[in-house]
Amino acid sequence: MEYLVGIKKIDDPGGSPLAWSDSTIDKLALVIGDIIEKTGFNLKTLRNASIMLHPNLVRPHTTRPASFSDPRVILATAKLMQDVGVKEISVGENPGFGYPARKAFHESGLISHLNKMNVKTLYFDESEWMTVNNPEARLYHDVTVSKHLMDCDCFVNIPKMKTHMLTQVSLCVKNVLGVIHDDQRMLFHRNDIADKVVDLNLLRMPDLNIVDGLWPMEGQAPFHGDAIEGFNVIVAGKNAAAVDAVCCRVMGFEVNEVPHVQLALKRICNIRDYNESVVVKGDSIGDVKRRFKRPVLSSMAQFGFVECIECGVCNGCLSAIRHSLDWLKMETDCSNIPVATVVSGRPMPNMNTLNRWKGELFLFGNCAAEFQFFDADRRNKGIWVPGCPPHVLDLAKLIKNINQ
Ligand code: SF4
Repeated sequence: MEYLVGIKKIDDPGGSPLAWSDSTIDKLALVIGDIIEKTGFNLKTLRNASIMLHPNLVRPHTTRPASFSDPRVILATAKLMQDVGVKEISVGENPGFGYPARKAFHESGLISHLNKMNVKTLYFDESEWMTVNNPEARLYHDVTVSKHLMDCDCFVNIPKMKTHMLTQVSLCVKNVLGVIHDDQRMLFHRNDIADKVVDLNLLRMPDLNIVDGLWPMEGQAPFHGDAIEGFNVIVAGKNAAAVDAVCCRVMGFEVNEVPHVQLALKRICNIRDYNESVVVKGDSIGDVKRRFKRPVLSSMAQFGFVECIECGVCNGCLSAIRHSLDWLKMETDCSNIPVATVVSGRPMPNMNTLNRWKGELFLFGNCAAEFQFFDADRRNKGIWVPGCPPHVLDLAKLIKNINQ
């Protein structure tokens, strides 16, 4: 089977993720329509269909315009669908981690534009959920997802092109996490996130994927990376795994460096080597390729205000710790924070790591709880941060509160 993926580098779409004109939306709608058609998707089949667009609106903020799906791409896609004559069009998201969808739509600057275009907003966290059995699952056999996902005729996935500390990249396959209920979102948020996101895709595959690479993010993404302003690339196609494989190459990653994309190719498309079956249309990968800065996962010896000791730890806790520390560094004055020590992962037997820690001691994650019960001397030493992994901002809040 052949999977078609379209790439388009746009000279200048006009505006930015924070400000744009109607002509920018018109121009982008034409570009996106052209790429979609090149991948074999017949837009006319959408007449009289209900369409749900699903962007990435995880903690959007005007100070980080490259961290969420560009409103220009979302609005241009909505316009394209309206021009085709669809029955109903909506935009839905659940940012997760307790962040309200309603706030995300406002912070992204989208809400007034969507209202003006008569596009419905779906706040998944305020709407109906349904639990669905997934016979293809390895992990999520029964999973609770937004009912809107299962009800819509056409599910259009609009992820941001960005690197990601836990998964290397965040693109189409991973963006589907935004349809899941918060109670289940943090399950399997460790090395098993690869199977987790593929499970969700197999439950309800996106019918169309449009990757926003206008201002992608590199480095310490998903939130604290650097914007690549004016990259101005759109990648699209029907198959999420194939589109992700092409995006990896565009971002300077080999596909097999990114476990969840490699796994998606195998579990969704039944191929191991994307060169076998993925065909690129429009611009070539070589025309647009750039080596994105890699995210750094470890926090060891990286921050002056905290000493990190990594024991038998997996990527789940490493990512949550690094996320908190990057957040503190970017959003607060770290010069006032007293030195602290963070220990993660399971200790080795007879280990003396904790004999001389500095400042407040945090035992991060369920695996690190063993330190408290390792021997009588260590009992009650340190503040245990429960979770597998804990919330990505738990550590930041605790460190900020030292001495307050
Ligand atoms: S508690 Fe242990 S298994 Fe769970 S995320 Fe942390 S290191 Fe991984």
